[in-house]
Amino acid sequence: MKTDIEIAQEATLLPIKEVAANIGIKEDDLELYGKYKAKFDSHFMDEVKDNEDGKLVLVTAINPTPAGEGKTTTSVGVSQALNKLGKKTICALREPSLGPCFGIKGGAAGGGYAQVVPMEDLNLHFTGDFHAITSANNLLAAMLDNHIQQGNKLNIDTRDVVWKRCIDMNDRALRNTVIGLGRRVDGVVREDHFVITVASEIMAILCLANDMADLKERLGKIIVAYNMDREPVTAKDLNAVGAMAALLKDALKPNMIQTLEHTPAFVHGGPFANIAHGCNSVQATKLALKLSDITITEAGFGADLGAEKFMDIKCQMADLHPDAVVLVATVRALKYNGGVAKDNLAEENIDALSKGIVNLEKHIENLKLFGVPVVVTLNQFATDTEAELTFIKNFCEERDCDFALSQVWEKGGEGGIELAKAILRTLENKESHYKPLYTYEDTTIEEKIETIATKIYGADKVVYTAAAARQKKRLTELGYGHLPICMAKNQYSLSDDPKKLGRPEGFDITIREIYVNAGAGFLVALTGDVMTMPGLPKKPAAEGIDVNDDGVITGLF
Ligand code: ADP
Ligand code: MG
Repeated sequence: MKTDIEIAQEATLLPIKEVAANIGIKEDDLELYGKYKAKFDSHFMDEVKDNEDGKLVLVTAINPTPAGEGKTTTSVGVSQALNKLGKKTICALREPSLGPCFGIKGGAAGGGYAQVVPMEDLNLHFTGDFHAITSANNLLAAMLDNHIQQGNKLNIDTRDVVWKRCIDMNDRALRNTVIGLGRRVDGVVREDHFVITVASEIMAILCLANDMADLKERLGKIIVAYNMDREPVTAKDLNAVGAMAALLKDALKPNMIQTLEHTPAFVHGGPFANIAHGCNSVQATKLALKLSDITITEAGFGADLGAEKFMDIKCQMADLHPDAVVLVATVRALKYNGGVAKDNLAEENIDALSKGIVNLEKHIENLKLFGVPVVVTLNQFATDTEAELTFIKNFCEERDCDFALSQVWEKGGEGGIELAKAILRTLENKESHYKPLYTYEDTTIEEKIETIATKIYGADKVVYTAAAARQKKRLTELGYGHLPICMAKNQYSLSDDPKKLGRPEGFDITIREIYVNAGAGFLVALTGDVMTMPGLPKKPAAEGIDVNDDGVITGLF
């Protein structure tokens, strides 16, 4: 069997200007980054702003196993299939982070015959957006420390600096560090921390900003530290906004590449869904809606994280109205949720499947809370047996869910026709009554967290550590109580304990820390021991990656 990268390297790509021309975009409206990548500038976005919006379909999934279970693959494959059926479809995805690329998961360009290309570019430096975000983040950090060094006019409490440096790498050694060591001229000594770029506030801001003016306004609101009177000090106070925005000028523009079947793919922004809000940029999604009949977009990890944040943060903040949700499940993930070890997932096991399927059941129930019609799809693996597939199909049909088998990994668009037809049926026959789980203004921090924890995760109640309780009180006093909540939780379990698989019951959610991302416009609530800087595994994927004398990359997956 060919690897993802082998399939991607064998593909014949169309020049990106031809892919654009196929959906009526002129070459003049593109900023070309070589032959196969392009960005859109803001003039073009103004030009199409009066077009009617197409339909918006979210792809989400049950709780993932450590391997990742095929949301990107499904998103890419089904957009290829919809195009085959004559529907003008664009997929709007996130840009991959280098962290997982070199860690366990590998890249994030889809898989098999449902990939976006050029996959090496996308997985590595792409159009430089993440470098720009990292630079803007670290410019602010440098200006902050310089301000303290140069006399600290803003009276910043160096024990209460909250801005962290970032790098797009799984680098656990940078989680906690000390800076400013050395002589007087080498800065003021203080404890510092790094987060991975995809967890940084600037990433969230870039993804939620409507345009340059909005980006700047949000950058200005970033809280970098508190002063000796315990009042917030912002990026605006440090006069950092202009330079940061200048660094982000091009990163703010949506990128376009193509699928293996030349479907346009808008790939822009990439916050993780476990420690950030997990959705591609608002600008790319809105642009795709203006240019397509159907926009397929993906939110990260399981529906408890990505889909909840998509509905409650992205759609509510950006006034988007999703028309349908595709919930991806795999036999493997359901068996894993039923207690089967990672190495034994290839064996037929109806018993484990029937134990693990409660996870799917809970996600179906959850998605119905948002009032958006649900289609369940099974991403078929070669090891799945007939009996296992039938078991799941019956389970969904008993719960009145449209169900479709997807074979896009093996067959590309052709393998997604059944799913594409199910989506079209749903869009035609079932009206979406999208409503978020909670509204921002009229609920307290406590009420919002409780709503998510009890309704989506299935928790009995929420418990706060003493520190988190203090932070909750203080953030409310500072006037941030009306902001939505971005939960930071492990992705493997509906609970805050990654070992509790299936559909856990009788548990509490413990909130360890709450902080405000005032620029992004949400509060982050950390549960369990989830970390904003991942580490590499014992044998990182990086050890298997190489490039030959002709510049051909191998081992990226
Ligand atoms: P997610 O977006 O849910 O994290 P991806 O679509 O990125 O998952 O897929 C994760 C990995 O699983 C990829 O390497 C992909 O090639 C592989 N994969 C996805 N679907 C299948 C399938 N049906 N059969 C075999 N491998 C698959
Ligand atoms: Mg994905």
